[in-house]
Amino acid sequence: MHGCFHDNIAAVKAGINANRVQESTQPWDVVVVDAGNAAFCAALDIGAAPVGNWSGCHAVAWERNAPEFGDLAVGDQFQKHSYPWGIYINAEGRRFLDEGADFRNYTYAKYGRVILAQSGQFAWQVFDAKVKAQLRDEYRIKQVTRVVANSLEELVGKLEDVDATQALREIETYNRAVRADIAFDPNVKDGRCTEGLAVPKSNWANTLDTPPFEAYAVTCGITFTFGGLRINTDAQVISADGEPIPGLYAAGELVGGIFYFNYPGGTGLTNGSVFGRIAGANAARRAA
Ligand SMILES: Cc1cc2nc3c(=O)[nH]c(=O)nc-3n(C[C@H](O)[C@H](O)[C@H](O)COP(=O)(O)OP(=O)(O)OC[C@H]3O[C@@H](n4cnc5c(N)ncnc54)[C@H](O)[C@@H]3O)c2cc1C
Repeated sequence: MHGCFHDNIAAVKAGINANRVQESTQPWDVVVVDAGNAAFCAALDIGAAPVGNWSGCHAVAWERNAPEFGDLAVGDQFQKHSYPWGIYINAEGRRFLDEGADFRNYTYAKYGRVILAQSGQFAWQVFDAKVKAQLRDEYRIKQVTRVVANSLEELVGKLEDVDATQALREIETYNRAVRADIAFDPNVKDGRCTEGLAVPKSNWANTLDTPPFEAYAVTCGITFTFGGLRINTDAQVISADGEPIPGLYAAGELVGGIFYFNYPGGTGLTNGSVFGRIAGANAARRAA
């Protein structure tokens, strides 16, 4: 699907998909993700209005050693989204977010920026054998940074760039805090939480006690930015003075003002399909 139609010329937002940020720190405004974006710039040149959450983006947990830009052979399999069944550990050997705050679909696109804020811009996702069958397919590709161990002591020693002593203490503290009296149920927000931790886990809190233990190294991957062109419900691009620009339509990631601070899973393609159909129909009607 193309993002933008200007009379007979299809212009598109040059891809900022799947660019990976390793060296940058927040805010996003200083992150260079792409030199392209020709259509967006062209639209601005003729007076289109930018709108939306320019310091926000769809940012996920992404294989730590993935190439700097997306690899079409791997596609989205560099993502690592099964953290609700395990815990995160950062370079200091500490948990730093609520892995079970909500279903993956409601947290994955905002947790990438939290990983980016950690020392070294990375973290490890830690699981035990009890949840191995629960891990998504993306954990079974060849291009993963994974360590496996038969004890927690052995595991923390294998977590590259991590304070192993603190990591072991953190996991043991976490294990003690789990409300094991509440049944684990991955199909609902089960309320199986931790108690007394500075960083709680609100659902799906399983103890890490069954070998083999596994950990996966992730960093932050940017999928797309939230800022873009202002459009109306006819997918017409709106100018800086508030009027539609004749003959200019936009849809998909080129458009801003759709997402702020977070993103519910599946809405990127929904957004592109809905406004793409409207933009295409209106552009065709105008050209007829
Ligand atoms: C790794 C990953 C996983 C995703 N997972 C999901 C998901 O599970 N569910 C979901 O809903 N969304 C998902 N998305 C988001 C979804 O893919 C996008 O929101 C959607 O594809 C945006 O559509 P678009 O048409 O705006 O842009 P794109 O799909 O990027 O299309 C733009 C097209 O324009 C072309 N192009 C660029 N420059 C030019 C040029 N100068 N001339 C001609 N053509 C050009 C590109 O090659 C591309 O084909 C994911 C995105 C990524 C990167």
